[in-house]
Amino acid sequence: MRISTITNWAYAITVGLTLLSGGAFMIAAKSADDERISTETAWRLDEQVESLSRAAEQTTEDARLYIQKGEERYLKAFQAADADERAREKSLKALDQSRLSAQEAAALSIIVIDAELLDAIEEQAVKDYANGETEKARAAVFSPEHEEAQSGLLASVAHFTELVATRTEQELSNAKAKADLWGSIAKSLLLVTALVFLSVLYFVLKRRVARPLLEMSGIVRRLAKQDYDVQVLPDGRADEIGDMNAAIQIFRDNGIERDRLDAERRMDQQMKDLILQLMHRLQACRDEAELADVVPLFAVQIFPKLGGQLYIMNDGRTVLAAKGTWNDPIRSSQEFPTFECWGLRRGRLHVSDDTHGDVPCQHLDDALPGGSLCVPLAAHGDIVGMLYFESSDGANLNAARVYIELIAENLGLAIANLQLRDRLTNLATKDALTGLLNRRSLDENLNRLRREETDLPAALLMIDIDHFKRFNDDFGHDAGDFVMSQVAAIMADLAGAGGRAHRYGGEEFAVVLQNVERAAAFEIGENIRHAIEATPINYLGRPLGTVTVSIGIASTEANQPPATLMQRADAALLRAKASGRNITLADWIDGRSGRLVG
Ligand code: GH3
Ligand code: MG
Ligand code: MG
Repeated sequence: MRISTITNWAYAITVGLTLLSGGAFMIAAKSADDERISTETAWRLDEQVESLSRAAEQTTEDARLYIQKGEERYLKAFQAADADERAREKSLKALDQSRLSAQEAAALSIIVIDAELLDAIEEQAVKDYANGETEKARAAVFSPEHEEAQSGLLASVAHFTELVATRTEQELSNAKAKADLWGSIAKSLLLVTALVFLSVLYFVLKRRVARPLLEMSGIVRRLAKQDYDVQVLPDGRADEIGDMNAAIQIFRDNGIERDRLDAERRMDQQMKDLILQLMHRLQACRDEAELADVVPLFAVQIFPKLGGQLYIMNDGRTVLAAKGTWNDPIRSSQEFPTFECWGLRRGRLHVSDDTHGDVPCQHLDDALPGGSLCVPLAAHGDIVGMLYFESSDGANLNAARVYIELIAENLGLAIANLQLRDRLTNLATKDALTGLLNRRSLDENLNRLRREETDLPAALLMIDIDHFKRFNDDFGHDAGDFVMSQVAAIMADLAGAGGRAHRYGGEEFAVVLQNVERAAAFEIGENIRHAIEATPINYLGRPLGTVTVSIGIASTEANQPPATLMQRADAALLRAKASGRNITLADWIDGRSGRLVG
């Protein structure tokens, strides 16, 4: 109930009670009035009756004086007193009988009768005296009848007075009791009014206002300190305090919502910072291997609840292979053909889960529970890989979608850039026909050897295919190319961990061996020569015959400078050609005598 309603009710009750108590006071006052009127009435009655009695006495006295002395003035006095007495009798007869009790009315009529009887005796006596019957008249006014009438009048006056006194006393007592009763009622009502007023005041101020306000101020203080654990229970009150309580509740809800949004914004900022860091690292990656290390490192921080894999497309654009993994994904194969992924087929993010109602990718083990998300990594119109995430809870995947797409876009570009750089590097450093390093790379490697000034030995093998022109001439240039690539592959295979094979130009090759002693270098050269000679080469089903090579080797051992490696190896190769081909000669061994020269 609203406080205004309570106070209105209290006001109405107070006004009602005040009116009632006013009424009671008025009734009490009326009773006091009745008391007064009753006393006055009694006094007036007594006075009237008394004066009649006195007038009767006066008439008797005047009549007796006249009859005894015969003087005219007594006759006149008698007549005046008699007239006065008659007038009083008349006024007594005319009294409002309704204000008298039956007994009083009877007593009053006896008084009048007694007075009239006395008057009649006296008037007759005065008449008789005037007619000369002096004795009769004297005897009449002193007769026992006269005495009896006179004392009868006094007795009836006394009786009447007593009756009036008794009744008045009764009336006074009733009026007093009534006045007392209504006075008490009025006081009680006044007391009740005061109590109602004070109770309402206490209830409103303490129970309905002060206590809830105290509680609310405590709650507001805690809310101001952002302590949202404080409970604001709905009190269901439809008053100003209830409104304030509801307002505080809204204030708390808003605070909680603001906190949640703040936390969300902080989390979002954190995610974006991490994604930015990841992007910077991706830009700086030198190859896919580095990229495959960087992505999982950041993915576990950005998506701690999601397992995932980074897939990279092979050169043939047919197969995806996992290169980096985080948080132990279990559903997706390590390697699979591109057509098994709906994300790749459609070229857009694809969700495979039980609840999504979409077709699941075939590279997933759908016997395992949870949801999966595949995002193709694309750049410059090509798909270069795929970013895969999985979770047992679909909500986690959904919440991460926007960040995953952001990462995917940048990751695709980074992979494409790396691949582009790889292609450009290959073009710049490799020979297109054989796949070996080119002449420029050879120059760089030899220069590096010169610069490094290391004690470790290095060697250079110059290799030239013997009578290569014949292959061109006999089988055509394509067959010649094929021979060259086969020979190059054998060289690359046998160059070993410290060796790098180059195409020097035409059908000439150079193998740089780092940290290889000259005996080992010679052995490698011989291995290569023997392997080439022993490998049958068929082109388009035709045997091309035996291919042999001549090899000249130079080393930095025995204080020979790296700068002259090429020149010395070339000289040894020339000697090898001159000595009949299909032979390995070293610059530190004299070709003819076989003794050491360095
Ligand atoms: P030798 O044993 O003295 O080295 O005899 P050779 O025939 O190998 O040497 P020569 O220098 O006379 O011939 C080299 C030939 O290699 C000439 C050239 O037509 C051929 N040649 C050079 N580069 C290529 C190439 O890229 N492809 C093909 N098919 N032939 C090439
Ligand atoms: Mg040759
Ligand atoms: Mg040649």
